[in-house]
Parts: sequence; structure tokens; C-alpha cells
Amino acid sequence: MKILCILYDDPKDGMPSSYPLKELPKLEKYPDGMTLPSPKGRDFTPGELLGCVSGELGLRKFLEERGHTLVVTSDKDAEGCAADKELVDADIVISQPFWPYYLTRERIESAPNLKMAITAGIGSDHVDLQAAMDHKIDVVEVTYCNSRSVAEHIVMMILSLVRDYHNQHRIVNEGGWHIADAVKRSYDVEGMHVGTIAAGRIGYDMLRKMHPFDVHLHYFDKHRLTPDQEQALNLSYHDSVESLVAACDVINISCPLHPETEHLFNDELISKCKPGAYIINTARGKICDKDAIVRALESGQLSGYAGDVWFPQPAPNDHVWRTMPHHGMTPHTSGTSLSAQARYADGVREILECLFDGEEIRNQYLIVQDGDLAGMGAHSYTKGTATGGSEEAAKFKK
Ligand code: NAP
Repeated sequence: MKILCILYDDPKDGMPSSYPLKELPKLEKYPDGMTLPSPKGRDFTPGELLGCVSGELGLRKFLEERGHTLVVTSDKDAEGCAADKELVDADIVISQPFWPYYLTRERIESAPNLKMAITAGIGSDHVDLQAAMDHKIDVVEVTYCNSRSVAEHIVMMILSLVRDYHNQHRIVNEGGWHIADAVKRSYDVEGMHVGTIAAGRIGYDMLRKMHPFDVHLHYFDKHRLTPDQEQALNLSYHDSVESLVAACDVINISCPLHPETEHLFNDELISKCKPGAYIINTARGKICDKDAIVRALESGQLSGYAGDVWFPQPAPNDHVWRTMPHHGMTPHTSGTSLSAQARYADGVREILECLFDGEEIRNQYLIVQDGDLAGMGAHSYTKGTATGGSEEAAKFKK
């Protein structure tokens, strides 16, 4: 089989010759008891860069020993890009949400051999799921592999936005010592109302991690948590997004992007937020109307916005979120720490081993199977596509 793998570029000065840590902590299971990815073999050292082109997700030896062809590229957007050329006879495409190869209907229809799209990470909205269903292409992702990495990033972003860390760090870098400037937008998180849209793996872990900060915790989700889960963190449940945003000083977004959540945070919903609220979005950029966020930061309706997800990706160099006031944006990094990379590289290999050996892929990894939403996909996604406008990614210049 031909496996096409689209990964982000290597570091500008080449692959590291050493890393800060000698080894990663050993984790056995996720909090709900699900086991970590467990491939039969591994050809990389956990803690090394695997998500970039030279890292190859640690797959080359394994695939070539089994007689498969692996093509790896980062060139994925402009017309005539390497990924489009290689796609036409590819059997499997592996892509990452951090550097997504937007598998639009047009691309899917250019690839008659395509059988499977694997997301090396979580969130398969870069695939036109409707087109995948129509063409019986299975879509799978490595559920849970980086959920807890993202929850850590959310906590970092809540604290840094509310305490105004970025501004204070900038003052130091510029050689200053202007305490009043450094603290004129700086608050304690303690006592605030912190809520999440979706309390899935990431959302619930974020609530758990914020609990020791002595805040009031809230959530909205399509399915209510168990009484035990609510009581453990003293959670207030809201039966609508509107109710949650009116109550919270800090609003976290952790739902998948699908037609139901696209542009959920528009002018209307933002106007219902508690004035001066902070929004953290590590789910997907398109869940927010980009210009509505800018307007709200400029008017003061929002005090801050942080996240690591943009639309499209890479974000064009003139994307307004790069320059809007009071933002704490990073590139899409929360789920691709060196720790997370080891887990999703293992997960991709586990999926490929199952496919090649005719074994069942874990139900939790399935998004689309046999022409319909399946597994996790049937639980959390709705039919349709959210890839519209992705061609804008070609505007990014390195
Ligand atoms: P998850 O465990 O599947 O949780 C998703 C939750 O969203 C589920 O609880 C689901 O509800 C809920 N949901 C779905 N549609 C909703 C809606 N319309 N309104 C409210 N809640 C809704 O997945 P996860 O691991 O937490 O990941 C969540 C998302 O984060 C992913 O889909 C991806 O987009 C994003 N993500 C980002 C990164 C990153 O690097 N920034 C990494 C991983 C994931 P039910 O289960 O009750 O249906």
C-alpha cells in the first residue's frame, strides 16, 4: 500500500541533537481506565520529535519492512502541492490537526484507491466527513492521545490571560520595570466562575485541573455527566450554551468542530457573555467567528482570548488574531508536546497494525466506518463538512 503522511516542517535549524529531558514519565492508563496506545512494536525513542517531516511518526522502518511505501511531505496547500500529487494513488492518508491536510471532497474524489484517513491526534474536522462517508473511506483518530496535554495548555492559558502574563513578560524582555503597567489588567483566578462548553476528555480534565484553584466550576454538554462526576468537582450544569456564558468569567471551549458548532461564538452569543469574560479555545478556530472575537476584544465585551487553534492552518500571515488586543494565542501546539507525539505515533502504528493484520481497530478510535459515523464519531460528530474555506491556508508564507 502507499501511505501518504503530511507532517509539519522540521525545526528551522534542523533536527535537535539532544533534548532537555532524558526520558518521559511512564503513564499506564488514562483516567477512565482506557489503555494508552499499544502497538506491537516501536522504532523511536519517546521524547524525540516525531510530528515533523524527518520524524516520520517513527513509521518508516515498520512500513518498509512490510513492503509498503511511505511518502512524507509538509507541502500541502497551494495548487500543485506535493501532497495533492501523491494523493492520487495513495491508499492511506495520515495527517495531523496541527498542520492539517484538508481532505476536501475534491481531494477525496481525486484519490480512487483511498481507503482510510488517519488523524495523528484528535479532531478529524479537516476531513470532509460527508464525502468520506459517501466514498466509504474510513476515518480514525487516536482518541485520548493528547487530551490531557491540551487540558494542561488550557490551565496555562486561563492563568496567563487572567493574570496578564504576556504583558508582564514583554515588559521584562524590553528591559522595563513598570509595575503599574504590568498589573493594570491583572487579577486572581480564585473565586471566579470558570465554565466549559463540552466536558469530554479535555473539558472534564480541565475542570479537574482547575478545581484546586478554588473557583466555581460550570459546564454545558450535549450529554450530562453522572451525579458522581458532578459532585466530585461541585459542578453546576447548564442546559444551554447561553446559560453557561452568562454565568462565567472564564469560558473554555472543548467541543469538536462539526456543522452544529461551526461559528457558535458569533456576535449574538458573545453579546450574551458576562461582560469582560475571557474565552479559551483549544478546540477549533472555526467554532468562533474570527471577526466577532476581534470586535468583542476591542469593545471590552471580552477581556481576553487565548487558544492554539485557527482557521485555516497555517493561519495566513495577516490573520487578525495575530494582532488583536489582549490575546494569548499560540500556534497549534497544545496537543503536540513531545510527550503527546510519542502517544499519537504509537496510536497510528497500532491502527496500521490492526488494518494490515485484519484485526479490529478500537471502537474509541473510529469516526467514520463503512459509510457512516461510527464509534466516537457517532457519539460526538454530526454529518456534513466543516472544511469550507480551507484553501485560504495557501496564503501563509514561510
Ligand atoms: P471528546 O472526549 O470526544 O469530547 C468532546 C465533547 O464534546 C463530548 O463530551 C461531546 O459530547 C461534546 N460535544 C459535541 N458536540 C457538542 C455540542 N454541540 N455542544 C456541546 N458539547 C458537544 O474529545 P476531546 O478529547 O475532549 O477533544 C475535544 C476536541 O478538542 C476535539 O474534537 C478537537 O477538536 C479538539 N482537540 C484539540 C487539540 C489541540 O491540540 N488543540 C487536541 C485534541 C483535541 P457527548 O460526548 O456528550 O456527545
